[in-house]
Amino acid sequence: MTRDDAQALDTADPLARFRDAFDLPRGVIYLDGNSLGPPPLAAHERMAQVTRGEWGDGLIRSWNAAAWIEAPARIGDKIARLIGAKTGEVIVGDSTSVSIFKLAAGALSLRPGRMTLLTETGSFPTDLYALQGLTALLGERVRVKAVAPHDVAAAIDEDTAAVLLTHVHFKSAQRWDLAALTAAAHAKGALVIWDLCHTTGAVALDLNGVEADLAVGCGYKYLNGGPGAPSFLFVAQRHQAAIRSPLWGWMGHAEPFAFEDGYRPAPDIRAQITGTPQVLGLAALEVGVDLQLEADPALVEAKGLALANLFIAEVEARAADPALKLASPRDPAQRGLHVAFTHPQGYALVQAMIARGIIGDFRAPDIARFGFSPLFLSHAQVWDAAHALADILATRAWDRPEFRARAAVT
Ligand SMILES: *Cc1c(COP(=O)(O)O)cnc(C)c1O
Repeated sequence: MTRDDAQALDTADPLARFRDAFDLPRGVIYLDGNSLGPPPLAAHERMAQVTRGEWGDGLIRSWNAAAWIEAPARIGDKIARLIGAKTGEVIVGDSTSVSIFKLAAGALSLRPGRMTLLTETGSFPTDLYALQGLTALLGERVRVKAVAPHDVAAAIDEDTAAVLLTHVHFKSAQRWDLAALTAAAHAKGALVIWDLCHTTGAVALDLNGVEADLAVGCGYKYLNGGPGAPSFLFVAQRHQAAIRSPLWGWMGHAEPFAFEDGYRPAPDIRAQITGTPQVLGLAALEVGVDLQLEADPALVEAKGLALANLFIAEVEARAADPALKLASPRDPAQRGLHVAFTHPQGYALVQAMIARGIIGDFRAPDIARFGFSPLFLSHAQVWDAAHALADILATRAWDRPEFRARAAVT
């Protein structure tokens, strides 16, 4: 493909208009929206409005007057539309890590007598740690079983309460067959908790269509909700009466402002809330979610996969270095919207790219990872990034001491 071909694709791109909705520095090609999405321009204005008007002028009155108290459920309902869930099935709050803990414990409450929480080895660390921490708390009664991804389906048995899986893998971008795995778990009476961190805002989803049970996802990746944005948590309607959150707090009470001594959970998704909503984080997240809702999810996924395909093809056609290997599935149907290449000098490679204004990231031990957020990237940018990577490899531009010095966050 020539650069003109890439530009022609941009001219025909139905999502091109979204580019101007983001505040990205000139000259930067941002291939890390899968780790921290950039700010929508509207977020700046909204944050000023919240801190000056709602917080400053409104003070505590804003819990009612500015509907702060409704934000977790209101934004949850908006995210529900992005993931094929119903109104009242999604709530926003806490970090993804905390939400995973809550749902893992919640799954045990839905499957009393079953003692195993099953998951995949090599999953995102927090997913594994949340399960390990929960079982450390519960003692002998519950165990975590982590098996290789291709052994997961066969490992589900009558003792499995729930399976926790990351729909799109954070390193390889390998995608689970969400419908098939959910059905396999249900056949054994087990539940599935889907981690949708690298899915939401990227890969089109229909949770209700596959009878999904429970899910969590991230606000600051493809939803562009801002650093540390609250997570979201999905509980299918049919599970809401029985599920118990392990973290009881006043905001999950049936009547928070009755100030009762005894805990009585809210009868709906609100029982998953623990404490006071993070209003500033929620305000920024809502801007990102509103923007995402304007885009057709099928077009979003198709463009992201096309960008990733373009990147892989251009890199492989030009990169002379045999040490560079594709670590993501070649088949786009099996992939999320990022691409991983392994290289022994992966860290230095990514730093050399960043020095040229092309921002990806590194995942130990040897993965250079590039995300293709469909709302703000153009085909021409991806073409440029691929050619820069090929040039860096050909000229060994990565081979400098400053590119090898590791920072705290990679
Ligand atoms: C990004 C990510 C998380 C993040 O968890 P936090 O609590 O927000 O730090 C969790 N799981 C997966 C799979 C992720 O990709």
